[in-house]
Amino acid sequence: MTQQSDTRYWHPFSAMGRVNGNEFVVARGEGSRVWDVDGREYLDATAGLWFCSVGHGRREIADAAAAQMTRLAAHHTFGDEANPVVLELCERIVALSPLTDGAVFLGSGGSEGVDSAGKIARRYWSLRGRPEKTMIVSRDLAYHGMNAYGTSLAGIAANREGFGPMMESTQVAWHDPAALEALLAEHADHVAAFIGEPVIGAGGVVPPPEGYWPEIARICKAHDVLLIQDEVICGFGRLGEWFGCQRYGVEPDMIVFAKGVTSGYLPLGGVIASARVREPFWAEDAPVFRHGYTYSGHAAVCAAGLANLDIMEREDLVARVRALEPVLAELVAPLAELPGVSDVRVAGLLAGFELDPALTAQRPGLADEAMLAIRKHGVITRGLRGAAVQMSPPFTTTEDELAGMVEGMGAGLREAVGALVA
Ligand code: PLP
Repeated sequence: MTQQSDTRYWHPFSAMGRVNGNEFVVARGEGSRVWDVDGREYLDATAGLWFCSVGHGRREIADAAAAQMTRLAAHHTFGDEANPVVLELCERIVALSPLTDGAVFLGSGGSEGVDSAGKIARRYWSLRGRPEKTMIVSRDLAYHGMNAYGTSLAGIAANREGFGPMMESTQVAWHDPAALEALLAEHADHVAAFIGEPVIGAGGVVPPPEGYWPEIARICKAHDVLLIQDEVICGFGRLGEWFGCQRYGVEPDMIVFAKGVTSGYLPLGGVIASARVREPFWAEDAPVFRHGYTYSGHAAVCAAGLANLDIMEREDLVARVRALEPVLAELVAPLAELPGVSDVRVAGLLAGFELDPALTAQRPGLADEAMLAIRKHGVITRGLRGAAVQMSPPFTTTEDELAGMVEGMGAGLREAVGALVA
């Protein structure tokens, strides 16, 4: 018998059998708060899906997109075509990044950015006369989006399962440069790039060990392997610098970004390629790079990005993240003592609350149960990898709102997790 459907919307990352008839419908947002269709108010401790850095309801971004839509909503950018806003936005992104003589390749989100970075890396090596360098190495716990390349690079094993053979890739331990060095000592001739998130996001909010990234950069350089930083979460201020790699003192060959570039007001993502990477593609006799998307450089989206960056700069929001990090760290520290919570981690305006692995092994749905309990206390969070819950609030969140978010997290964790231990 066909299963009855109460909704025509197929939710991403969902078990529709459970979501069907139980949708949580959010209708409105302002600052760090959202309201559901019944008018109930929530603190948005996740900024949507890690994206809403400037907070909800910014008319300035809507107005910029509307003005651009009436002037020229979009014009494709294949071949030699462009529009003024995409040119301005890419100038600005490169200037904010450490890759000051780089170039930006655009798409509509992080997954397309990862695909672009992977294909650029492989094409870079084939243009350099080393077409056998095709493998991309990632890490366990990694999340690089859900296009075919990102799925292949997934370090959260469940995200790769059930699809059959994917792109060529291998994963190394997330915390151990020696694991990469050992792999490259044998296989560097076939490896195009190493990819990693400055702070692992969807894998549980996991900051790198001290000195990790400079050591990884050294190893990649020594073995002629490109270093890609996936900054879809960390980029555009989330770690208190414009880019996460600046916090950890490394200059990668490519930076993938999305989310915070528009604060999610319209979908945008891409990759910043360093001068070294773009150089063979810029050569006068270089062949056409056969890659790109209909909406690469979409004008209205780029106008939203420019308006978002105006707000970020005018309100000095990257500095605000730096100022809020110790406040957040102090607020969440007591939650590490809660029964059933095994670790609390903070980096920039990100926090992860790890649940006791013995409990999640017994009860695989526990992180989602915690999320629902926290929601009942008026705070929106998410379960990560079935093992942790997340905080990634807007950069504009007040200290009182941060305290309210942490209070709701604590109350929900006590109810859903602590009760199992008591
Ligand atoms: N890379 C990282 C590190 C991410 O966190 C995400 C999404 O959360 C992606 C890639 C994929 O981005 P999108 O969902 O916009 O395709």
